[in-house]
Amino acid sequence: MVGIFQDIESYGHEQVNFFQDKETGLKAIIGIHSTVLGPALGGCRMWNYEDEAAALRDVLRLSRGMTFKAAVAGLKLGGGKAVIIGDSHKIKTRDLMLAFGRAVEAVGGRYITAEDVGMSVKDIDTVRTVTSHAVGGSNEGGSGDPSVMTAFGVFQGMKAALKHAGFGVKFEGIKVAVQGTGNVGYHLCKYLANAGAKLTVTDIYPEQVERIVKEFGADVVSPDQIYQVDTDVFAPCALGAILNSRTIPQLKCKIVAGSANNQLESDKDGMALADKGILYAPDYAINAGGLINVAAELDGYKHDLVLTKVGKIYNTIDSIFEQSVKDGILPHQAAQALAEEKIEAGRMEREARRELEGDKRSSINPQKAGNWTTIAR
Ligand code: NAD
Repeated sequence: MVGIFQDIESYGHEQVNFFQDKETGLKAIIGIHSTVLGPALGGCRMWNYEDEAAALRDVLRLSRGMTFKAAVAGLKLGGGKAVIIGDSHKIKTRDLMLAFGRAVEAVGGRYITAEDVGMSVKDIDTVRTVTSHAVGGSNEGGSGDPSVMTAFGVFQGMKAALKHAGFGVKFEGIKVAVQGTGNVGYHLCKYLANAGAKLTVTDIYPEQVERIVKEFGADVVSPDQIYQVDTDVFAPCALGAILNSRTIPQLKCKIVAGSANNQLESDKDGMALADKGILYAPDYAINAGGLINVAAELDGYKHDLVLTKVGKIYNTIDSIFEQSVKDGILPHQAAQALAEEKIEAGRMEREARRELEGDKRSSINPQKAGNWTTIAR
């Protein structure tokens, strides 16, 4: 991986750890983007990457996104993420999960892991047998599958988007096209159908859409057709980078609001949406429900409290849209500004605290010393 420090510097990471375990075949990278607001929390993605550079890029991109997500959600957490290189259907074993757990433990609590694509609640239960720095398991006070709360947050954020796009805040008769009816997509469809929305759905696996049709009633289109659906809201709940120069010209919606991470392929795609008069609810602001859910474990999980906090995603999205109008900037830029403001406030608070405590450790603060990388194990 040529230029590894250049990559890390360009994303602004504090720390990146590489792990390998010959016996189990574990090859993992843990990216810690920022610990300014607290320990870096973010899921572990297990994926059969094209090459190691692609895995590094993914962990850098995703962990930076977690910093912004936690900040906008008002959590005392930083941003981190892990990736395990390999096909989860082929090489995942209990021993490999244990090796990953030991890797997380070796980072000493600066990174807290959770599930992501290719990982399950059961895997987190395994990981938790060797490290206390894991959340989202089903045992010992674990909060389990976060996707219900993610869907609830998206539903709330979508309501704020409806208001700003002039639809009011009721879902009756509102047309929503959902791309991806997996964990989040399923629960989102449930909230929407219960509120009276008209659904159009797609997925690459027919059985995923069949259960939606059966349980809630929905029109079905092929994965390629979802962009052209005449709809009020397009809800991407499958892949990242799906808002790009190929898909945006096809869109016929007024709002994009969904759970997928990193929906904009590039910054200019945010502008392309605005040029078409489409209101975009920034992904890391609207999809924070799952993070809020797992983070609640750190203070002793209370379901009602989590529900209230996730419900406030309505207010967050509402104020991001208001700020974007006020400042004449795009919604994703307003979200970014909000995140940076909170991180800067956290940085100043931390500095003040350290000065007060006369904490000598501030002299090795990675934010001050420049970015650094450890190759561990
Ligand atoms: P999932 O794997 O359960 O569901 C994704 C679904 O998308 C699958 O059913 C898959 O078949 C489908 N899909 C994949 N490619 C597709 C395509 N080209 N067209 C149509 N459908 C396609 O994942 P999930 O947990 O529901 O997460 C969905 C998205 O939301 C992901 O991008 C994830 O990173 C993001 N997200 C999830 C959570 C959470 O709590 N699970 C939290 C934040 C963000």
